[in-house]
Amino acid sequence: MKLIPLPAFADNYLWMLHDGQSALVVDPGDAAPVLQALQREGLQLQSILVTHHHADHTGGVDALREATGAQVYGPARETIPEPLQRLSDGDTVQTLGLAFQVLDVPGHTAGHIAYYCAALDGAPLLFCGDTLFSGGCGRLFEGTPAQMQASLGKLSALPGNTRVCCAHEYTLSNLKFALEVEPDNAALVAYQAQCQALRADGQVTLPSSIERELQINPFLRSQQATIIASARRFDAAGVDQHGVFATLRQWKNQYR
Ligand SMILES: [Zn+2]
Ligand SMILES: [Zn+2]
Repeated sequence: MKLIPLPAFADNYLWMLHDGQSALVVDPGDAAPVLQALQREGLQLQSILVTHHHADHTGGVDALREATGAQVYGPARETIPEPLQRLSDGDTVQTLGLAFQVLDVPGHTAGHIAYYCAALDGAPLLFCGDTLFSGGCGRLFEGTPAQMQASLGKLSALPGNTRVCCAHEYTLSNLKFALEVEPDNAALVAYQAQCQALRADGQVTLPSSIERELQINPFLRSQQATIIASARRFDAAGVDQHGVFATLRQWKNQYR
């Protein structure tokens, strides 16, 4: 199986997975890069997996369905271009000879789902849309901090070697904030240098892994003493009232 991030818009990745003949694509906000890749590699699009309703994740769905006849899958509780097969927690998608388990991960949007494949060429694979980013997490447009924290808890409980396919290249700006929160985290300092080198070379910083995110992502580390202390320095009253996670998210929203 080949896993390819197709760049789209300013910083989206439309993740494509194929076996040389059949392909799936995740969150095609734009049909054009997907159609080009299908033609270039001589592939038939079998399925389209959608994580949430935002236009940069769904804008190409209709055109791709029409051009290829691919089956569309998406969240049960969001408005996605019909027809599609609606999914929620515990459902399984069978495609390309693989099984993808559906996880409800509300927070960024109210009905956001993620797709997890337990075994693919030796390591699990996760398509998590705009829920978990490398070094960060999605903004809370429709959900509460508690919902997002529970969703991230679900994802961070997956095996450490799970490849994390996020839908945006936000890594460097996330790491800048992460270092503000946790300046003495050696793994974070080293990872930033590695990602800076990749970006300077025009390369993708993803997929990440659950193991890595547990070491460097402040939104998965809000129980750490240094992070609690940083959050209190930013807004002690906010920590007392809403908790560390909610305060971190608030801080990140205003951070430049
Ligand atoms: Zn989104
Ligand atoms: Zn997005």
